[in-house]
Amino acid sequence: MIHYDTAVIGSGIAGLTAAIYSQSHGQRTVLISQGQSAMHFASGSFDVLSRLPDGAPVSHPFKSMPTLFQLRPTHPYHRVGIETIRASLTWFSEMMAGCGIPLTHQADEANHFRITALGTLKSTWLSQPYVYQHRCEVPFKRIVVISVKGYRDFSPQMIRDNLSLHPDFANTPIVSQFITLPVRPNGTHNWRALDLAHQLRIEANWQHWCEQLNHFANADDLVVLPAILGNGDGLIQLSELHKITGLTFNEVAAMPPSLLGIRIEEALLREFRRLGGTLLRGDSVTNGEFHYNKLVNLSTAHLGSTKLHAKRFIMATGSYFSQGLKAEYHQIREPIFELEMDTNYQQGNWYQPRFAGNQAHPFVAFGVKTDAQLRPYRQGKVVSNLYCCGAMLANYDPVFEGCGGGVTIATAFHAARQMLLTPQATHTSEAIL
Ligand SMILES: Cc1cc2nc3c(=O)[nH]c(=O)nc-3n(C[C@H](O)[C@H](O)[C@H](O)COP(=O)(O)OP(=O)(O)OC[C@H]3O[C@@H](n4cnc5c(N)ncnc54)[C@H](O)[C@@H]3O)c2cc1C
Repeated sequence: MIHYDTAVIGSGIAGLTAAIYSQSHGQRTVLISQGQSAMHFASGSFDVLSRLPDGAPVSHPFKSMPTLFQLRPTHPYHRVGIETIRASLTWFSEMMAGCGIPLTHQADEANHFRITALGTLKSTWLSQPYVYQHRCEVPFKRIVVISVKGYRDFSPQMIRDNLSLHPDFANTPIVSQFITLPVRPNGTHNWRALDLAHQLRIEANWQHWCEQLNHFANADDLVVLPAILGNGDGLIQLSELHKITGLTFNEVAAMPPSLLGIRIEEALLREFRRLGGTLLRGDSVTNGEFHYNKLVNLSTAHLGSTKLHAKRFIMATGSYFSQGLKAEYHQIREPIFELEMDTNYQQGNWYQPRFAGNQAHPFVAFGVKTDAQLRPYRQGKVVSNLYCCGAMLANYDPVFEGCGGGVTIATAFHAARQMLLTPQATHTSEAIL
């Protein structure tokens, strides 16, 4: 029998945040994860709140929280509360800084805009060091968008053309350039971000890359690059590149895999291991046994008949994207424990007629129903030692509201804190729950 204080299911941002919090508070913690998280596809910036459910744009997320709570009282942010949202983001940023990835936000707590791979501007709140945080004035003489010949996942021309349509950039010249490395991709094969990360570790390619950057850009420019440096250690390479060239860089996450997102995930995994946590990567939780209203153990695909026991459990299995939720013809399910869902099937409107219209799709806000401590319901009762967090939760829309990263960090922090604050119920009281 394997026994832990805390077992965490899922190693996206939610699971990693909760697992690190638990392990760093002296709990023997195991983290079980079946595969890649949304971070492999994410920008590496964290959105806190960019739009209210009624569509109104948000410039200062914390000032808009009271309105959000009025419009959607069941929103996970409301469950967590403003002070905990702030505390969670501060704790997360400090931890990431300790892991070598300093994340920053605007001094007045406003949202900033980041440049996307489409050349559009996307509102976000917390960004990595080589992400230019745009407000309205462009503090550069020129924008130089650079890619590498043979890299198929990033179009500097598209960024140039779309960015120049934005009024803020109307008076800033934007140019696009390609750098040709001394090596070429084999045959018809094109490079992906990880191939280039590997190629740019080779001294001859690196020197050529640095020389070419200095040929195309100067110290007054903002140099927009696809995120192709390092595989986990990209910030060290960017800092070296800045020292060698004297240029100001802006990394943009291109098509997946996103090196900006992977960098965050890898840093958190390292931190969890450094703290002494146990990681079961590549394994999936298939089932669990309940005693009264308490989860007692987990079964996983690899452990066979051996059960994994813990005093408390955190569930962070994500949404449809990571199979934490499953959409079937007539219903949406949480597939491991069949937890109760918060959905509005009855109204029959799962989605809007226009995929990219101005209204939120209801199915995005479907998810697991919880109490104020983020404990889910199963067969009509609260599971007393299981806490849910992140994208699996109901009643928010990370896409429409632009709040995915913030909700994930705040709910993971809240769930882990509640878990450690709540004394475990005895069997007698469990029977009453
Ligand atoms: C493609 C994409 C891009 C996004 N980009 C951004 C962004 O740039 N900024 C932002 O703020 N928000 C973004 N979001 C919003 C996103 O919801 C959150 O930011 C956050 O990444 C969700 O984290 P999570 O840990 O809850 O879930 P996930 O990242 O989905 O992680 C869930 C984890 O659980 C594991 N898992 C699932 N089932 C099991 C099982 N049975 N056993 C074991 N493990 C299991 C999965 O393998 C995965 O590792 C994005 C979302 C998506 C889908």
